[in-house]
Amino acid sequence: MKIKSSRGVKDILPQEIDKWHWVENKAHKIFSLYGFKEIRIPIFESTNLFQRGIGDTTDIVQKEMYTFEDKSGEQITLRPEGTAGVVRSYVEHKLYNPPSLVKVFYIGPMFRYERPQAGRFRQFYQIGVEAMGSPSPSVDAEVMIMLMDFFSALGLKDHCLEINSLGCPECRPQHREILKTAIKGQLENLCENCNNRYERNPLRVLDCKNKTCSEIAKDLPKTAEHLCDVCSDNFKQVQSLLTDVQVPWKLNPILVRGLDYYGRTAFEVKSGSLGAQDAICGGGRYDYLVEKFEGPATPCFGFALGLERLISLVPFDQMESIAQHPDLYLVCLGEAAQTLGFKLANELRRKGIFVERDSEGASMKSQMRKADKSKARFALILGDNEIRDEKYVLKLMEDGSQEEIDTSKEYLGILVQRLNPQTVSETTHG
Ligand SMILES: [Zn+2]
Ligand SMILES: [Zn+2]
Repeated sequence: MKIKSSRGVKDILPQEIDKWHWVENKAHKIFSLYGFKEIRIPIFESTNLFQRGIGDTTDIVQKEMYTFEDKSGEQITLRPEGTAGVVRSYVEHKLYNPPSLVKVFYIGPMFRYERPQAGRFRQFYQIGVEAMGSPSPSVDAEVMIMLMDFFSALGLKDHCLEINSLGCPECRPQHREILKTAIKGQLENLCENCNNRYERNPLRVLDCKNKTCSEIAKDLPKTAEHLCDVCSDNFKQVQSLLTDVQVPWKLNPILVRGLDYYGRTAFEVKSGSLGAQDAICGGGRYDYLVEKFEGPATPCFGFALGLERLISLVPFDQMESIAQHPDLYLVCLGEAAQTLGFKLANELRRKGIFVERDSEGASMKSQMRKADKSKARFALILGDNEIRDEKYVLKLMEDGSQEEIDTSKEYLGILVQRLNPQTVSETTHG
């Protein structure tokens, strides 16, 4: 029996990879303008990292982790998210010394045992960003602005930044009590889930997906109405900084984050083109997670987004072709031409030219067909006659126009210039 891929995972095939690279390169480029550097954390970690970092009572830890015992008996888990690993690394390598704002991002696969459905996979890819070591609301604003710049660079439209403040340990307990009291009066109208968890986490009632619950949530007391002075001041600063740089935002008073360690600014970016599952990115401030891992008090701000969903929203058809096509297809007829062509292909590649060639000694017609199919910009034709006359034929595939390249003198430079003028100017002026 043929072996197939496991349920809930998929291959990203060569014909799709250009899109992935394009999006990932944009992330590298935009994030580096803000001083963020990539961090590569392990794909597996010890299980208790996630139990402590994400929380024992969350769905992720209780139901969705890929956990196993390795050969030495250690409990290992495939990472279901990136923040816990980044924080572990930050503490382990004392990145807080000397004190500074540490700015990192990661790109890579995450693993969750979920019910596979359209657009949801058990191995999925995330881009995440963490800014560690500052309580300043200007960092909150800057990271969200960077994210919106990234989305603009991808050509996304129709999305909206929604923000809220979840308060701090000063003001949250009071809000919690007020909220609980309000919920108690509504319990019989709320769903079972809300009934079960409102005691432990009343905030989650605010973002329950149940229709009746979300109607009731609209009138429940909001965190932003019960902020202490510091939180309130902070939140106003975030808003005015976003406005200062013309990043549109809107207040969403029932926005909360699924994980307990968030406080103060929380945000989501929603897409108008996605229907019910409309959040394309979520994040916010988490000021107490580093201490949970026995690091020094380190206020942090971060976000994560799913690449599969993001890529499905990028309007690739509206931009210039992002696929990499050969600069040149070498059409070689006969044994002598094959030998020469093999060497020429390598010389050109060493000068930065993307060269494809036929390795099967096929007919002229068949090689020209392959050149066409490869979408190469040029074809260079060499056969016995061309070698004897010291003149190769360079054909522009777009319109079929031809030019003779005189090979009796040094011709490689001329050829390189014809094929890719950019490479030449980079090597001579660079
Ligand atoms: Zn507060
Ligand atoms: Zn509910």
